[in-house]
Amino acid sequence: MTSTNETRHLKIGPYEICPIPTGLFGLDGGAMFGTVPKVLWEKSNPADEKNRIQMEARALLLKSPGNNILIDTGNGSDFVAKYGDKLGNKFKDLYNIDDSGPSLKKSLQAHGLKPEDINNVVITHFHFDHAGGATTEKDGKLVPTFPNAKYWAQKGNLETASHPNLRERASYYPANYQPLLDAGVLTLLDGDTENFLPGLSAFISNGHTEKQQMVKVTDGQTTLLYCGDVVPTSTHVKIPWLMGYDLQPVVLMEEKQKYLSQAADNNWYLFFEHDPYCDAALIERSGHDFSVQKRFWL
Ligand SMILES: [Zn+2]
Repeated sequence: MTSTNETRHLKIGPYEICPIPTGLFGLDGGAMFGTVPKVLWEKSNPADEKNRIQMEARALLLKSPGNNILIDTGNGSDFVAKYGDKLGNKFKDLYNIDDSGPSLKKSLQAHGLKPEDINNVVITHFHFDHAGGATTEKDGKLVPTFPNAKYWAQKGNLETASHPNLRERASYYPANYQPLLDAGVLTLLDGDTENFLPGLSAFISNGHTEKQQMVKVTDGQTTLLYCGDVVPTSTHVKIPWLMGYDLQPVVLMEEKQKYLSQAADNNWYLFFEHDPYCDAALIERSGHDFSVQKRFWL
Protein backbone atom coordinates (compact mmCIF):
# COMPACT_ATOMS: atom_id res chain seq x y z
CA MET A 1 0.00 0.00 0.00
CA THR A 2 2.72 2.47 0.99
CA SER A 3 4.84 1.85 -2.09
CA THR A 4 2.11 2.95 -4.49
CA ASN A 5 1.90 6.50 -3.08
CA GLU A 6 3.32 9.18 -5.31
CA THR A 7 5.87 11.44 -3.63
CA ARG A 8 5.10 15.09 -4.28
CA HIS A 9 6.88 18.12 -2.85
CA LEU A 10 4.53 21.02 -2.35
CA LYS A 11 5.20 24.68 -1.91
CA ILE A 12 2.29 26.94 -0.98
CA GLY A 13 3.07 30.63 -1.11
CA PRO A 14 6.28 31.10 0.88
CA TYR A 15 5.88 27.77 2.68
CA GLU A 16 7.63 24.51 2.01
CA ILE A 17 5.18 21.77 3.07
CA CYS A 18 6.99 19.39 5.45
CA PRO A 19 5.15 16.51 7.14
CA ILE A 20 6.50 15.95 10.66
CA PRO A 21 5.93 12.37 11.86
CA THR A 22 6.17 12.43 15.66
CA GLY A 23 5.83 8.73 16.32
CA LEU A 24 3.59 5.75 15.88
CA PHE A 25 1.06 4.69 18.46
CA GLY A 26 -1.89 2.35 18.68
CA LEU A 27 -5.59 2.81 19.24
CA ASP A 28 -8.39 0.30 19.37
CA GLY A 29 -9.53 -0.38 15.81
CA GLY A 30 -13.18 -0.52 16.83
CA ALA A 31 -12.92 2.90 18.47
CA MET A 32 -11.28 4.32 15.35
CA PHE A 33 -14.01 3.11 13.01
CA GLY A 34 -17.13 3.40 15.15
CA THR A 35 -20.00 1.44 13.68
CA VAL A 36 -18.05 0.19 10.65
CA PRO A 37 -17.68 -3.62 10.96
CA LYS A 38 -14.17 -4.97 11.56
CA VAL A 39 -14.37 -7.19 8.47
CA LEU A 40 -14.41 -3.97 6.45
CA TRP A 41 -11.78 -1.85 8.23
CA GLU A 42 -9.25 -4.58 8.96
CA LYS A 43 -8.51 -4.94 5.24
CA SER A 44 -6.86 -1.52 5.16
CA ASN A 45 -5.92 -1.26 8.84
CA PRO A 46 -4.86 -4.62 10.32
CA ALA A 47 -5.17 -4.92 14.12
CA ASP A 48 -2.67 -6.36 16.63
CA GLU A 49 -3.47 -8.96 19.33
CA LYS A 50 -5.01 -6.22 21.51
CA ASN A 51 -7.13 -5.05 18.57
CA ARG A 52 -5.05 -1.87 18.24
CA ILE A 53 -4.40 -0.46 14.79
CA GLN A 54 -1.29 1.47 13.91
CA MET A 55 -1.63 5.23 13.97
CA GLU A 56 0.73 8.03 13.13
CA ALA A 57 0.75 11.29 15.08
CA ARG A 58 1.74 13.60 12.24
CA ALA A 59 2.31 17.31 12.64
CA LEU A 60 2.92 19.66 9.73
CA LEU A 61 5.72 22.16 9.35
CA LEU A 62 5.22 25.15 7.08
CA LYS A 63 8.80 26.22 6.55
CA SER A 64 9.64 29.69 5.31
CA PRO A 65 12.40 32.22 5.93
CA GLY A 66 11.64 33.97 9.22
CA ASN A 67 8.33 32.22 9.84
CA ASN A 68 8.26 28.53 10.64
CA ILE A 69 4.78 27.37 11.53
CA LEU A 70 3.99 24.05 13.18
CA ILE A 71 0.47 22.64 13.10
CA ASP A 72 -0.15 20.24 16.01
CA THR A 73 2.60 18.57 18.01
CA GLY A 74 1.86 14.83 18.37
CA ASN A 75 1.85 12.82 21.59
CA GLY A 76 4.92 14.45 23.02
CA SER A 77 6.73 11.11 23.01
CA ASP A 78 10.00 13.05 23.40
CA PHE A 79 8.64 14.18 26.72
CA VAL A 80 6.53 11.30 28.08
CA ALA A 81 8.12 12.03 31.48
CA LYS A 82 5.97 15.11 31.83
CA TYR A 83 2.95 13.04 32.66
CA GLY A 84 4.73 11.88 35.80
CA ASP A 85 4.32 8.62 37.67
CA LYS A 86 0.57 8.69 37.35
CA LEU A 87 0.63 8.16 33.60
CA GLY A 88 4.31 7.68 32.70
CA ASN A 89 4.93 4.16 31.50
CA LYS A 90 1.33 3.10 31.90
CA PHE A 91 0.35 5.80 29.42
CA LYS A 92 3.08 4.72 27.06
CA ASP A 93 1.99 1.11 27.29
CA LEU A 94 -1.73 1.78 27.02
CA TYR A 95 -1.32 3.62 23.74
CA ASN A 96 1.64 1.56 22.58
CA ILE A 97 3.64 4.75 22.07
CA ASP A 98 6.72 3.97 20.03
CA ASP A 99 9.51 6.42 20.83
CA SER A 100 12.21 4.45 19.02
CA GLY A 101 11.53 5.91 15.57
CA PRO A 102 10.74 9.45 14.46
CA SER A 103 9.81 12.02 17.09
CA LEU A 104 8.83 15.66 16.99
CA LYS A 105 12.37 16.82 17.75
CA LYS A 106 14.03 14.35 15.37
CA SER A 107 11.65 15.22 12.51
CA LEU A 108 12.27 18.95 12.97
CA GLN A 109 15.99 18.26 13.05
CA ALA A 110 15.70 16.52 9.69
CA HIS A 111 14.60 19.90 8.33
CA GLY A 112 17.48 21.67 10.07
CA LEU A 113 15.29 23.18 12.80
CA LYS A 114 15.45 23.27 16.59
CA PRO A 115 12.49 24.09 18.88
CA GLU A 116 13.87 27.66 19.12
CA ASP A 117 13.36 28.10 15.37
CA ILE A 118 9.57 27.66 15.46
CA ASN A 119 7.72 31.01 15.35
CA ASN A 120 4.10 29.86 15.48
CA VAL A 121 2.35 26.72 16.72
CA VAL A 122 -1.27 26.05 15.79
CA ILE A 123 -3.16 23.53 17.95
CA THR A 124 -6.22 21.99 16.27
CA HIS A 125 -7.55 20.81 19.65
CA PHE A 126 -6.01 19.89 22.99
CA HIS A 127 -6.45 16.08 22.86
CA PHE A 128 -3.13 14.61 24.01
CA ASP A 129 -2.20 13.11 20.65
CA HIS A 130 -2.33 16.62 19.10
CA ALA A 131 -1.10 18.87 21.90
CA GLY A 132 1.21 16.48 23.81
CA GLY A 133 4.32 18.02 22.28
CA ALA A 134 3.24 21.61 22.97
CA THR A 135 4.82 21.63 26.43
CA THR A 136 7.90 20.03 27.91
CA GLU A 137 9.73 19.63 31.19
CA LYS A 138 12.60 21.97 32.01
CA ASP A 139 14.24 22.04 35.43
CA GLY A 140 11.31 20.15 36.93
CA LYS A 141 8.76 22.57 35.55
CA LEU A 142 6.43 22.35 32.56
CA VAL A 143 7.11 25.05 29.96
CA PRO A 144 6.27 25.68 26.29
CA THR A 145 8.39 23.37 24.10
CA PHE A 146 8.94 26.14 21.56
CA PRO A 147 10.37 29.05 23.58
CA ASN A 148 10.09 31.66 20.82
CA ALA A 149 6.69 30.68 19.46
CA LYS A 150 3.30 32.20 19.67
CA TYR A 151 0.66 29.46 20.12
CA TRP A 152 -2.77 29.58 18.48
CA ALA A 153 -5.84 27.64 19.65
CA GLN A 154 -9.61 28.05 19.84
CA LYS A 155 -11.17 29.70 22.87
CA GLY A 156 -14.07 27.23 22.93
CA ASN A 157 -11.73 24.26 22.75
CA LEU A 158 -9.70 25.50 25.70
CA GLU A 159 -12.95 25.81 27.66
CA THR A 160 -13.85 22.21 26.78
CA ALA A 161 -10.34 21.02 27.65
CA SER A 162 -10.57 22.79 31.02
CA HIS A 163 -13.98 21.25 31.82
CA PRO A 164 -13.99 17.97 29.92
CA ASN A 165 -17.02 15.69 29.88
CA LEU A 166 -16.55 12.21 31.33
CA ARG A 167 -15.80 10.63 27.97
CA GLU A 168 -13.07 13.09 27.06
CA ARG A 169 -11.40 13.29 30.45
CA ALA A 170 -8.85 10.70 29.39
CA SER A 171 -7.81 12.89 26.43
CA TYR A 172 -7.51 16.40 27.89
CA TYR A 173 -4.61 17.02 30.30
CA PRO A 174 -3.85 20.39 31.93
CA ALA A 175 -0.15 19.55 31.34
CA ASN A 176 -0.74 20.26 27.66
CA TYR A 177 -2.29 23.74 27.99
CA GLN A 178 -1.75 25.21 31.47
CA PRO A 179 1.98 25.93 30.90
CA LEU A 180 1.04 27.87 27.74
CA LEU A 181 -1.41 29.99 29.72
CA ASP A 182 1.11 30.50 32.53
CA ALA A 183 3.75 31.64 30.04
CA GLY A 184 1.31 34.01 28.31
CA VAL A 185 2.09 32.62 24.85
CA LEU A 186 -1.39 31.47 23.85
CA THR A 187 -3.56 33.49 21.45
CA LEU A 188 -7.17 32.32 21.39
CA LEU A 189 -9.19 32.51 18.20
CA ASP A 190 -12.97 32.62 18.48
CA GLY A 191 -14.53 30.68 15.61
CA ASP A 192 -13.72 30.57 11.88
CA THR A 193 -10.88 33.00 11.21
CA GLU A 194 -9.49 34.03 7.82
CA ASN A 195 -5.78 34.72 7.51
CA PHE A 196 -4.87 34.58 11.20
CA LEU A 197 -1.38 33.93 9.86
CA PRO A 198 -0.37 34.68 6.25
CA GLY A 199 -2.22 32.19 4.01
CA LEU A 200 -3.75 30.28 6.95
CA SER A 201 -7.43 30.14 7.84
CA ALA A 202 -9.19 28.24 10.64
CA PHE A 203 -12.46 26.32 10.13
CA ILE A 204 -14.44 25.12 13.11
CA SER A 205 -15.75 21.59 13.51
CA ASN A 206 -17.78 20.43 16.52
CA GLY A 207 -18.48 16.81 15.57
CA HIS A 208 -15.35 15.17 17.02
CA THR A 209 -14.96 17.51 20.00
CA GLU A 210 -16.14 21.05 20.78
CA LYS A 211 -14.46 23.73 18.68
CA GLN A 212 -11.75 21.83 16.90
CA GLN A 213 -10.09 23.93 14.18
CA MET A 214 -9.06 22.60 10.80
CA VAL A 215 -6.40 24.68 9.08
CA LYS A 216 -6.53 25.67 5.41
CA VAL A 217 -3.25 26.74 3.84
CA THR A 218 -3.52 28.41 0.45
CA ASP A 219 -1.79 30.75 -1.97
CA GLY A 220 -4.79 30.91 -4.31
CA GLN A 221 -3.36 28.18 -6.54
CA THR A 222 -2.50 25.28 -4.29
CA THR A 223 -4.58 24.54 -1.20
CA LEU A 224 -4.04 22.07 1.61
CA LEU A 225 -6.48 21.29 4.40
CA TYR A 226 -5.01 20.03 7.67
CA CYS A 227 -7.91 17.81 8.71
CA GLY A 228 -7.07 17.09 12.35
CA ASP A 229 -9.54 14.57 13.72
CA VAL A 230 -12.32 15.54 11.30
CA VAL A 231 -10.78 13.12 8.77
CA PRO A 232 -8.02 11.33 10.74
CA THR A 233 -6.96 8.90 7.98
CA SER A 234 -7.59 8.52 4.25
CA THR A 235 -9.97 5.65 5.07
CA HIS A 236 -12.19 8.15 6.90
CA VAL A 237 -12.85 10.16 3.72
CA LYS A 238 -16.13 8.24 3.38
CA ILE A 239 -18.78 10.29 5.19
CA PRO A 240 -20.23 7.58 7.49
CA TRP A 241 -16.79 6.22 8.43
CA LEU A 242 -16.53 7.98 11.78
CA MET A 243 -14.65 7.29 14.98
CA GLY A 244 -16.36 5.87 18.07
CA TYR A 245 -14.69 8.78 19.88
CA ASP A 246 -16.63 11.42 17.90
CA LEU A 247 -19.01 13.23 20.24
CA GLN A 248 -21.65 14.27 17.70
CA PRO A 249 -21.65 11.85 14.75
CA VAL A 250 -24.50 13.48 12.82
CA VAL A 251 -22.93 16.93 13.16
CA LEU A 252 -19.61 15.52 12.01
CA MET A 253 -21.20 13.95 8.92
CA GLU A 254 -22.69 17.33 7.98
CA GLU A 255 -19.34 19.03 8.49
CA LYS A 256 -17.55 16.41 6.40
CA GLN A 257 -20.13 16.86 3.64
CA LYS A 258 -19.44 20.60 3.60
CA TYR A 259 -15.64 20.59 3.76
CA LEU A 260 -15.06 17.52 1.59
CA SER A 261 -17.33 18.98 -1.12
CA GLN A 262 -15.05 22.02 -1.28
CA ALA A 263 -11.96 19.81 -1.24
CA ALA A 264 -13.22 17.54 -4.05
CA ASP A 265 -14.47 20.41 -6.25
CA ASN A 266 -11.37 22.59 -5.83
CA ASN A 267 -8.61 19.96 -5.76
CA TRP A 268 -7.52 20.64 -2.21
CA TYR A 269 -4.95 18.29 -0.73
CA LEU A 270 -6.26 16.70 2.44
CA PHE A 271 -3.55 16.22 5.04
CA PHE A 272 -4.02 13.30 7.45
CA GLU A 273 -2.70 13.41 10.97
CA HIS A 274 -3.18 9.74 11.86
CA ASP A 275 -2.77 7.73 8.64
CA PRO A 276 0.34 5.53 8.81
CA TYR A 277 0.03 4.62 5.11
CA CYS A 278 -0.02 8.08 3.46
CA ASP A 279 0.12 11.68 4.62
CA ALA A 280 -2.12 13.33 2.04
CA ALA A 281 -4.66 12.65 -0.69
CA LEU A 282 -6.77 14.23 -3.38
CA ILE A 283 -10.39 13.11 -3.28
CA GLU A 284 -13.32 12.95 -5.67
CA ARG A 285 -17.08 12.73 -5.45
CA SER A 286 -18.44 9.19 -5.52
CA GLY A 287 -22.26 9.15 -5.69
CA HIS A 288 -23.46 10.92 -2.55
CA ASP A 289 -20.14 10.23 -0.89
CA PHE A 290 -16.41 10.76 -1.51
CA SER A 291 -13.48 8.53 -2.30
CA VAL A 292 -9.72 8.86 -2.55
CA GLN A 293 -8.50 9.72 -6.02
CA LYS A 294 -4.80 9.54 -5.19
CA ARG A 295 -2.65 9.09 -2.09
CA PHE A 296 0.64 10.90 -1.56
CA TRP A 297 3.73 11.19 0.53
CA LEU A 298 4.37 14.91 0.66
ZN1 LIG B 1 -9.07 14.29 18.94
